[in-house]
Amino acid sequence: MKKLLSKIVSVGLIFCMTGAMAGCSKSEETTKATTAADTTAADTTAGDSSAADTTAAAEKFTVQEGKLIMATNAFFQPYEYYQGDKIVGIDAEIAEALAKKLGLELQIMDVEFDSIIAGVQNNKYDFGMAGMTVTDTRKKAVNFTTTYATGIQAIIVKEGSEIVDIDTLLGGNYKVGVQQGTTGDIYMSAEPDDGGVGESRIVRYSKGPDAVLALSTGKVDAVVIDNEPAKSFVAANEGLKILETPFTVEDYAMCVNKDNTVLLDKLNAALKELTDDGTIASIIEKYIPSNG
Ligand code: GLN
Repeated sequence: MKKLLSKIVSVGLIFCMTGAMAGCSKSEETTKATTAADTTAADTTAGDSSAADTTAAAEKFTVQEGKLIMATNAFFQPYEYYQGDKIVGIDAEIAEALAKKLGLELQIMDVEFDSIIAGVQNNKYDFGMAGMTVTDTRKKAVNFTTTYATGIQAIIVKEGSEIVDIDTLLGGNYKVGVQQGTTGDIYMSAEPDDGGVGESRIVRYSKGPDAVLALSTGKVDAVVIDNEPAKSFVAANEGLKILETPFTVEDYAMCVNKDNTVLLDKLNAALKELTDDGTIASIIEKYIPSNG
């Protein structure tokens, strides 16, 4: 577990550094790229837009012209969740601001967390943004942008549970509920020698709220999930609490298809501008007040 933790933290640091460097060396205009980029020259018959033709192929950097398609799993408050039938939250607002900078129309797709990376690899979505932690394994499949937020894995138990910390959780024969394919799943399903509880004690759910419901109804003894959603689950469900002993720190970033470095660079440049002008901090503050 410790090894895993330090790996994750160092990966995050490297990303921050490379992200910052990329940001510094790029003076490229990101805002006006889109209207020109959206002429799919290959598909048009007449060559009447000669100047655009030469660059269009190189500039086509989203799956659908004029759109920026984001994949998320919208049960992860305060990063993404439903307000009526609209998906709101930190990720949704940052994505909206990024799309605006790039002159694209944001479209958010709500899918299983576990299918986001594959969908990005297959060019079904332009990018994934779902409170997604940067990990070495995921980095083999997709590229990550600069990180924009930090998460901590938290343990939720019932009030009065015998589980009081990570050691009692690991040491007893307790069942642990996780959201399929998340870092909570990855850490907890590791064998005991590697800091987890092992496959036999893991119960996987496709959504965080389902894991929490299983805890409330006694199907599992604990849920391991990111701390901010954990707080909102506990607030919404009587009789649950978060243990004081969080056990990992993780970096969140957006994932992009490995071949689409054009989009990666544009997102990083736009993210840097939004970080520098305080937009990112104010979006995060709106959903996670620092004095609250
Ligand atoms: N941060 C966790 C991960 O990346 C969980 C993300 C989520 O459930 N949306 O695996």
